[in-house]
Amino acid sequence: MTPVCLVGIGKIAVDQHVPSIAASDDWELAATVSRSGTVEGVPAFTDFDRMLAETDIPVISLCLPPVPRFAYAAKAIAAGRHVMLEKPPGATLAEVHALQDMATAKGVTLFTTWHSRMARGVAGAKAFLADKTVTEGHITWKEDVRRWHPGQEWVFEPGGMGVFDPGINALSILTEVLPAAVHLKEATLHFPENRQTPIAAQLQFSGGISADFDWRQEGDQIWEMTLHAGADRVDLKDGGNRCLINGEEAAQAALDEYPALYARMAELMETGGSDVDLTPMVHVSDAMTLGRRETVAAFDF
Ligand code: NAP
Repeated sequence: MTPVCLVGIGKIAVDQHVPSIAASDDWELAATVSRSGTVEGVPAFTDFDRMLAETDIPVISLCLPPVPRFAYAAKAIAAGRHVMLEKPPGATLAEVHALQDMATAKGVTLFTTWHSRMARGVAGAKAFLADKTVTEGHITWKEDVRRWHPGQEWVFEPGGMGVFDPGINALSILTEVLPAAVHLKEATLHFPENRQTPIAAQLQFSGGISADFDWRQEGDQIWEMTLHAGADRVDLKDGGNRCLINGEEAAQAALDEYPALYARMAELMETGGSDVDLTPMVHVSDAMTLGRRETVAAFDF
């Protein structure tokens, strides 16, 4: 079993990483680093430098928010450890390019994980669209920030990305399944009057693709996209976990999202490769550059 250290024992570490590692025959949770969080029965550090100095755990999985993550990733790579980055992989594009250079120089694996790409319906959609031309498409990604990020002030601070924190999941799927690249043409970003990041956004891409992201959704949560390729239609539902091709359910991938990410990390380490893809984040960066800003009602948790 490969030992892994989880850093940042918060919502996603507890919800997904810890159970996925525990259920795996290939991975062992060997330590945690967190200022306050722990996992029962697992050696817990509060200081990252001390963990690096006192253990030789080969893999560090960083579950911190994007802004503080770079410093941890840089130290881990410098210490010769393989690194998994939660999505979005950084606060800026340039810092992830820097990490990529460091990982290459050090000969370690760097994996910018995009968990939604591992949703069970995504591979089927990608395979179906591979030899087609997508003519039109729409994404609806509407969820309740209070439910998924309870009290997490960082999402509304600079670098927290606001509604693009979930929206980038949709963009990670879109960029995975589209057979040809698209680029952003227009965006409208809705900033609460008391916040630094948008709570909703509408995006228009080339190729007839549009997206509607909203973090104020109460009741049913909607994570869907529909792509048309001439007369063919692909519907991805439930965050990409269900794929319908011309109305018929397509085959699903065998693993859930986070077990699939750890399986991919094992594969990358075995082959000595890295997987660093910033395409979804380029679209977010472009939206922040090109987007028209509208001020909306103040938001408080
Ligand atoms: P979170 O619970 O707010 O934060 C995770 C942990 O990071 C915290 O428990 C905290 O640990 C540590 N942390 C926060 N700020 C820090 C700082 N400035 N310096 C050092 N450590 C800090 O966030 P999360 O929801 O787990 O999200 C973390 C990442 O996972 C984000 O990039 C997010 O996009 C991604 N993600 C989240 C979800 C979700 O449903 N929430 C789903 C998929 C992916 P300590 O205070 O204990 O040190």
